[in-house]
Amino acid sequence: MTPRTWRLALLMGCGLLVAAGLWAIWQWQYAQAAREAERHAQTRLALYTTTLQGALESFAYLPGLLVRQPQVQAVLLDEAGIFDAQVNAHLAEVAERSGAEAIFLMDAEGVTVAASNHASADSFLGHRYPFRPYFRDAMAAGQGEFFAIGSTTSRPGYFVSAAVTGGTEGAPLGVLALKVSLESLQESWRRAGEKVLLSDANGVVILSSRPEWRYRRLGELSPDALTEIRDQRQFLDEPLLPLGERLADGSLRIGGDDLGERFLDLSLPQATLGWTMHYLAPVRPLYASARNALLAAAGATFALLLLGLWLRERQRRQRLRDREANIIREANERLEIRVAERTRELEATQAELVQAGKLAALGTMAAGIAHELNQPLSGIRTFAANGERLLARGRPEAAESNFLRIQALCERQDALIRQLKLFARRGDRQEPVDLAERLDFVLELLDERLTEQEVSLARPEPLRPPLRIMGDPLRLEQLLTNLLRNALDALRGVTAPRLEISLQREGGQVVLGVADNGPGIEEDALSRLFDPFFTTKAVGDGLGLGLFICFGIVQDLGGSIAAANRPEGGALFRVALPAAPAVSGEPHGER
Ligand code: ADP
Repeated sequence: MTPRTWRLALLMGCGLLVAAGLWAIWQWQYAQAAREAERHAQTRLALYTTTLQGALESFAYLPGLLVRQPQVQAVLLDEAGIFDAQVNAHLAEVAERSGAEAIFLMDAEGVTVAASNHASADSFLGHRYPFRPYFRDAMAAGQGEFFAIGSTTSRPGYFVSAAVTGGTEGAPLGVLALKVSLESLQESWRRAGEKVLLSDANGVVILSSRPEWRYRRLGELSPDALTEIRDQRQFLDEPLLPLGERLADGSLRIGGDDLGERFLDLSLPQATLGWTMHYLAPVRPLYASARNALLAAAGATFALLLLGLWLRERQRRQRLRDREANIIREANERLEIRVAERTRELEATQAELVQAGKLAALGTMAAGIAHELNQPLSGIRTFAANGERLLARGRPEAAESNFLRIQALCERQDALIRQLKLFARRGDRQEPVDLAERLDFVLELLDERLTEQEVSLARPEPLRPPLRIMGDPLRLEQLLTNLLRNALDALRGVTAPRLEISLQREGGQVVLGVADNGPGIEEDALSRLFDPFFTTKAVGDGLGLGLFICFGIVQDLGGSIAAANRPEGGALFRVALPAAPAVSGEPHGER
């Protein structure tokens, strides 16, 4: 099975389980409600039975008492009817006092000879009731009881009777019957709003809280029973239709169609005449209760389902977030590794480049030095050979000029070597140096040239405290000398030559400016000024090492050097060097 089929099967299983659970809840709640309804019905049935029995029993003794009265017997014995009026009045009084609907006396033929309702229009007087069981039973067994619709009045009632004894042959003289109306009882049931029925031994409803259910049968009537009912004229001409339909579960559906109401039929047999009291509990509230429980359970299940889905979704999102975070973290780690690798590669490349640069610079320098040394050397060799020849020819004066030239060339070599020595000097000495003081010293050395070239000089005012930087005084003098010499070189042949030197503090730096009004620096020379052996001067005038050395010195001190052309003409060199920490004891501020 694929995971998909598994999941489907699991889902279906869960669905079935939920359905079974809901069904069980429905059943359980229905049974619970039915039990509750049954308990209620039993209580009500007990109550109704008590009231019914009370109502019947209060009359049961009366006929027995009345038949013992002599005037009652006298009415049946005396054919002249002397006692009739008296007995009629007596029966009427008893009926009124006891609450019986009617009390009447029948002779042995079942003909009414005296009655409590003798004065009313529907009086029983003269009516024959030999077919009524209460008459027949009393005649046969001394007493009887019966429920029937009155054949004279058409009003239903419970009849209880007793035989009037005293005849000569021992046979009863007649029967005294008492009719009790149960309408008030029925009315009280109706008012209670409950569905209560009283059925007789044949299952015919004789009392009902709903008048329209009266004289309906609860079951089937056997032909014998029907014949008997007809013979006794118990229910006159009532058709005795069935009351609803008895369903398989024992419940009763009243109303005929599907819309009819269903009732649980809870019954209690009565002591009288095989009667049964029924309490009909409507099924609809039971269903409603079961449905409510089902809905609540379904709602809870649905809520649980939603909660489950929500939790699952949350978990899924969390997992997704975790996975994304993992991916990002891994990507970051990979990136960091790559960055580290690239950095290492770049560092290695840079080291290689630096190395290559150094080698290239060394090569350039070696070539430059070789060239610079070679030129004068070959000159020296030529002049020496010429001098030798001139001396051999006996021309010592001419040879002398050659020796002088050799001397000049040697001086030049000396200058080159001095420069190189200075360049090689690492400047390990580090001491606070007053730059203004060094400038004064260098200007003093160059005084001769300044005067010779008639240069007007603008120099910085002496500052207090002096601007000091940490470094080697000799190398700083070298820096100043090279810059000023270059400026003086540039001012050669310039009219109104002018040299401007500035010295000031900018933040933590001491800034030196050397400006001239010479021809300035050519555009393409600007980028190569600080290269070794770069010079624009004629052979013999410049070595191209001055600015290269300046650059080295400034670098060693952690500063910077830059060259530019001034807008008004001429070049400007700007050197920035880190200022030395202030020396304690010196006055602060500028003069
Ligand atoms: P050198 O003076 O031996 O030529 P430097 O390294 O001192 O070597 O100078 C390199 C070049 O820079 C010079 O040849 C010159 O062309 C240019 N230069 C330096 N200073 C100035 C300046 N003040 N004005 C114009 N050009 C200058």
